[in-house]
Amino acid sequence: VTDSTTTDAPAREQVISLYASQPKIQARAVSGWFNGWRWALVWATQLLFYGAPWLQWNGRQAVLFDLAARRFYLGPLVLYPQDFIYLTGLLIVSAYALFLFTAVAGRLWCGFACPQTVYTEIFMWVEQRFEGDRNKRLKLDAAGLGLNKLLRRGGKHLAWGVIALWTGFTFVGYFTPIRSLMAAVPGFAFGPWELFWIGFYSLATYGNAGWLREQVCKYMCPYARFQSAMFDRDTLIISYDAERGEPRGTRGRKTDLESAQLGHCIDCGLCVQVCPTGIDIRKGLQYECIGCAACIDVCNGVMDKMHYPRGLIRYDTQNGMEQHLDRGSEWRRVFRPRVVVYTGVLVLIVAALLYGLLTRPAIRVDVVRDRGVLSRVVEDGWVENVYRLQVMNATEQMQSVRVSASGLPGMQLVPVPALTLAGAEARWVPVAVRVPPEAAAQAGAGSHAIQFDIVVTGEAPLTEKSTFMVPR
Ligand code: SF4
Ligand code: SF4
Repeated sequence: VTDSTTTDAPAREQVISLYASQPKIQARAVSGWFNGWRWALVWATQLLFYGAPWLQWNGRQAVLFDLAARRFYLGPLVLYPQDFIYLTGLLIVSAYALFLFTAVAGRLWCGFACPQTVYTEIFMWVEQRFEGDRNKRLKLDAAGLGLNKLLRRGGKHLAWGVIALWTGFTFVGYFTPIRSLMAAVPGFAFGPWELFWIGFYSLATYGNAGWLREQVCKYMCPYARFQSAMFDRDTLIISYDAERGEPRGTRGRKTDLESAQLGHCIDCGLCVQVCPTGIDIRKGLQYECIGCAACIDVCNGVMDKMHYPRGLIRYDTQNGMEQHLDRGSEWRRVFRPRVVVYTGVLVLIVAALLYGLLTRPAIRVDVVRDRGVLSRVVEDGWVENVYRLQVMNATEQMQSVRVSASGLPGMQLVPVPALTLAGAEARWVPVAVRVPPEAAAQAGAGSHAIQFDIVVTGEAPLTEKSTFMVPR
């Protein structure tokens, strides 16, 4: 940078570093109504995550994404890669639900249910057990390396490591049967991919929840950047009531606020100390605010002690705050066009998804032309094409399947397979399709559209399109 603010002074060159090291945030522990909800969600999400792979259904793992067998089990559902549309639908539902909740209640997801928040909460809890609350941790940070520090830090990292490893192990247990994974633990007999993903996921958990924490929300998460597009002036956000709180300042409990010309904020700084992203909500809404409501809980405690009404920091809308709207008026504004549109679209997609799942065919069939045997003339001049059919039972019950082919006169399937598939079984079946010489001559050389008709007892017939090649 060239500094030449005065004309007669020679220009000076200064090097300005654009790198600023991130100060470590030591958030203070907090208790209160919202903190209770956050922990309830930590328990709910973690019981689900750690518990689901251990559940059994019909003698198999209830939730298993068996990539090797290309089969996904979700309770009673047996899904194949052909059912990818349902996963797409589920992702769209999740995205729309996020849009809807964000439009109504701001960053509820971030503050209460996002894995980053949940694991950071767990890791911070462990940290407090080993190193104490904020002040003790700040002292420990400043202290030189001694036995006390070594033991406390070592214990904390060990506990973090165990949680991270268990998380990585559970994650892989969704893709490899978790019971067989557990059986591999004593002999460390994991496959290379299992080992890689356990290591990767454990490291990601340890790094994100133990070290990066709020930096993931501030610098890495794209949602933090685009969520403001879903906000409007009637979205619930964490707000500091500046009209009520200012002018801020210290005072005694009995101070007469009018004569002292003070608002309700006693400038204790606790709302900043509990903030996991280290911001001061009194400066207004900032994108770093993850909506965890820790500042509400702590400030309500301060208001109680001062015998002031609660809610100096509260969930409120910008319109509500500025226009002093009561709760009834704010509730009525929830049903605004944006919310109605998001809800309508969400209901439609959920209905379509449910309809699709409930009317899903019992059998899935994939037709693959045998590339080794494109087309050939066999006995009596018949023209033969060879295919491989992948027949997949998408139910837990045994299914009898009949397959036939049509599209050209006299077309026959050799042999005509009469298949019986066990529950969730998938099988490759080689089939040859033959066309009599006169029909082949009439159709002419080249590719002709045909179809395989798959009939399952008690189900509507399925049709799979393919092509039949007649050689020159
Ligand atoms: S916790 Fe409440 S009273 Fe204390 S500084 Fe924050 S807003 Fe003011
Ligand atoms: S400002 Fe309040 S709600 Fe926002 S992140 Fe900080 S403590 Fe949580």
